[in-house]
Amino acid sequence: MGCCSNTGGNTGPFAEGRDLVEFVYQAHGGGLRDQPIPNGGLIAVCQGCGAGFTLTTFVGQCTDCGGVHAVSPPRSDSAGNIQFAGKNFSLPEV
Ligand SMILES: [Zn+2]
Repeated sequence: MGCCSNTGGNTGPFAEGRDLVEFVYQAHGGGLRDQPIPNGGLIAVCQGCGAGFTLTTFVGQCTDCGGVHAVSPPRSDSAGNIQFAGKNFSLPEV
């Protein structure tokens, strides 16, 4: 399975919610999640608590509640594409 191709299923860079967060988190062997988003990041609104924060890497956390958000590279041109993993999600231990 290609990592950055749209397989037409519910996983990959065009997945939504937690599926997308987990996909980005694991993409490139974990090397993608800490990469900076081009143009300084995306201004995000936490979908868990409503606080504003800047998503500067492809996987990031709300500074207020720790909610995990992610965006995939092909969709990183718009904050509207940011996906939220859900209130009870925490990143797996590395
Ligand atoms: Zn939050």
